[in-house]
Amino acid sequence: IVDPSDPGQEEDTAIEAALRPKRLADFPGQSKVRDQLGLVLEAARRRSAPPDHVLLSGPPGLGKTTLAMIVGAELGQPVRVTSGPAIQHAGDLAAILSSLAEGEVLFLDEIHRMSRAAEEMLYLAMEDFRVDVIVGKGPGATAIPLELAPFTVVGATTRAGLLPAPLRDRFGFTGHLDYYEVSDLETILRRSAGLLQVSADPAGIAEIAGRSRGTPRIANRLLRRVRDWAQVHGHGAVDEQAAHDALALFDVDEAGLDRLDRSVLDALCRRFGGGPVGLSTLAVAVGEETDTVETVAEPYLVRTGYLARTPRGRVATRLAWEHLGLRAPEGAQP
Ligand code: ATP
Repeated sequence: IVDPSDPGQEEDTAIEAALRPKRLADFPGQSKVRDQLGLVLEAARRRSAPPDHVLLSGPPGLGKTTLAMIVGAELGQPVRVTSGPAIQHAGDLAAILSSLAEGEVLFLDEIHRMSRAAEEMLYLAMEDFRVDVIVGKGPGATAIPLELAPFTVVGATTRAGLLPAPLRDRFGFTGHLDYYEVSDLETILRRSAGLLQVSADPAGIAEIAGRSRGTPRIANRLLRRVRDWAQVHGHGAVDEQAAHDALALFDVDEAGLDRLDRSVLDALCRRFGGGPVGLSTLAVAVGEETDTVETVAEPYLVRTGYLARTPRGRVATRLAWEHLGLRAPEGAQP
């Protein structure tokens, strides 16, 4: 979603689009999801029929939109893009669905944020390729069924658990994207450096890859900041020195944690004695939306062992205390 009041974001979006791999064979990492999706698409192509609907889940910036575009490219079909928050009325969805051509791909980003009424319309459309358009109000209202051309939904969500079961069940294939290995991020960065026409040596690439929170969007963004640093203070090339100094300037620490990650750990240790503390209290303490803490910061902190989720709340591990240069209390979770 482009926020017109933020030109920086618009530029980011344009660059991101330019850096997206266009075909499955050019998509590094996520080998399981890639192989599974490749099979589903190839089988559909051989049957000359649209594939099952595809649901992609995982933290932001791991390639859900990229894969949705790739589904269209592999099938040789256009992709219509919209998102859950943009569809607040069932009528909005009906208008989109009825205008899809046969075989077209509908990418529904943030599908967990659609309205209830739209969600119910979507079940029927995905299963029977039909929508019921309600005409009139009250007792005189009638439902007029409208046949749709067969199409494929690619849904993306950061919160698969929030999707109601009937909607989740309509997706024949679900792929969960996980954080990338450093070696895959290096491959992505080499490719991006080539596209941006920046020269980058292996040490510079490795330094950026190791500090990108396992996320290609972050890797590509840091690459652009290191390039800036190299052009202003260095020799124009992305090397270890440029990466090191630029990342320090942009508050990315040695472990790859950014400002939000560190403020979550900081609040947890210094204000709440290491927890346990509830998610919403923690979010208020760092001045962020609960959703941002839960979907952006927390999954990576849990995955890297800085934070643990317990039935009583979030807890800082020994590693978190040490990372902040503090002494872990007796009995801190290892
Ligand atoms: P969000 O949910 O926040 O929209 P997303 O999961 O849809 O994120 P994308 O928009 O697909 O993420 O990817 C973000 C950026 O990362 C894009 O610029 C894309 O080029 C890059 N990217 C993602 N995955 C890969 C990959 N496997 N290889 C190369 N680049 C990738």
